[in-house]
Amino acid sequence: MTIGIWILGDRLDHNHAALQSCQDRKSQTSVILIESLNYLRERWYHKQKLVLIWSAMRHFAAELERDGWQVKYAIADDFLPPLLEWIKERDITELRVMNPVERPFRSVLNQLDLPCQLEILPDNHFLWSTEEFEDWTKNRKSLIMEYFYRAGRQKFNILMNGDSPIGGKWNLDKENRQPPKGKKLQPPNPLKFTPDAITTEVIAKVRNLNTTTHGKLESFNWGVTRAEALQVLDDFIDRRLPTFGPYQDAMVTGQTTMWHALISPYLNIGLLNPLEIIQRVETAYHNRDLDLNSVEGLIRQVLGWREYMHGIYQHVDDDYFHANWFGHDRPLPAFFWDASQAKMNCLHQTLVQVEDSGYAHHIQRLMVLSNFALIAGLNPQQVENWFHAAFIDAYDWVMQTNVLGMGLFADGGILASKPYAASANYINKMSDYCAGCQYDPKKRTGETACPFNFFYWDFLDRHQEKLQSQGRMGLILKHLDNISPTEMATIHQQATDWARSNLAPASRARE
Ligand code: SF4
Repeated sequence: MTIGIWILGDRLDHNHAALQSCQDRKSQTSVILIESLNYLRERWYHKQKLVLIWSAMRHFAAELERDGWQVKYAIADDFLPPLLEWIKERDITELRVMNPVERPFRSVLNQLDLPCQLEILPDNHFLWSTEEFEDWTKNRKSLIMEYFYRAGRQKFNILMNGDSPIGGKWNLDKENRQPPKGKKLQPPNPLKFTPDAITTEVIAKVRNLNTTTHGKLESFNWGVTRAEALQVLDDFIDRRLPTFGPYQDAMVTGQTTMWHALISPYLNIGLLNPLEIIQRVETAYHNRDLDLNSVEGLIRQVLGWREYMHGIYQHVDDDYFHANWFGHDRPLPAFFWDASQAKMNCLHQTLVQVEDSGYAHHIQRLMVLSNFALIAGLNPQQVENWFHAAFIDAYDWVMQTNVLGMGLFADGGILASKPYAASANYINKMSDYCAGCQYDPKKRTGETACPFNFFYWDFLDRHQEKLQSQGRMGLILKHLDNISPTEMATIHQQATDWARSNLAPASRARE
């Protein structure tokens, strides 16, 4: 039997299950990585994401070669011809691949007509297997993340004191919502990497692509190897984690990363492993006496949200990806693809940042971008498509559930217990964006009224009946009683007029 290993671009891990299975015969085992353009025909991607993945793949291939594997690195339009050629050339009888996390590619793989046996190995990049997650869902009325997260803390014995959470509480999120107002916040600068020869070559390739991509290339300074990803993690734990918690939700003009870890791009392509992140953070907590709210906040993102989003993505039916509970059908406006057209300062700041780097932190994603899309009634699938195209850490498994379920409540409450809809009040409290905006966050009607306000009340009123069925919405909906029918009619009209003048779709948008 001649074994060949196919490493996909999002599993660049020396502990990859297929590599592990052939550790004792490296020099006789052939490994292939294929840099293909297939995906670019399906959707757009941020230029920096393409650089990250292709450069990381090239570096990983070189590392495997130095480690004694027989490596073939193919660059092609379509992955299939080089794959078949390599199988024939090396006389491969068994092809080992890690089970693709992305459902669309999994079905492509399962339908391939290969001249050898295909051995699909379990994905070892999540802490919960799909089967374990399915067991957790059984006999549950609701699949709320908080209970899954608690089960994860117990299962992996993280921040536990026997059967109880360290500090007595499972979740310290309430301590992590400090507004930035009146404070001079100066987070440490994030670690940056100067592109080496390989990355420079990939940047030139992406610059010359003749397919449409999103964002800018100029400021590419992400790491592209495991060694660099570990430096980012160490730097976060040393300099950012101690004060990560309190201002986790704050947004400040010019401070694009705040105290956030910036590890998701590496974690999602296998350069970092979730358990090593969690354990290093927990060790730092014990050894350096860090604040529990900072440590628990970070661990909840990796052990809670990341695992949960993946579990739900694998759990739901295909129908989930077409869900549109509110029936929202406004096309994605042009300014999502061109930040210079965004007049609202919060959207402008966030979209510029995303164009420049492929990154925005979770509150910019949830409470600025998704919140606007939700209350303005944008089509959920177009919004999800944009998120996938715009972010450096975006993959089908994380964006479908995050955007459709959490951001837009398009699944009607499978994932979130209520829609994350908010007026300008939230953004005004948690950011300094409103001070530099042409709109007034205190007004809900009139020429200078903030669109977050009239869209918010318009949204609540339009969907009042549906939202009544969501237990946690009752108190919020009560506020509608304070708005007179005359003012509500003005709000609806202003939302309609403003959308007509300001939400024109892009002519080039791919849906
Ligand atoms: Fe955003 Fe409204 Fe504040 Fe302007 S006033 S920054 S549009 S929330």
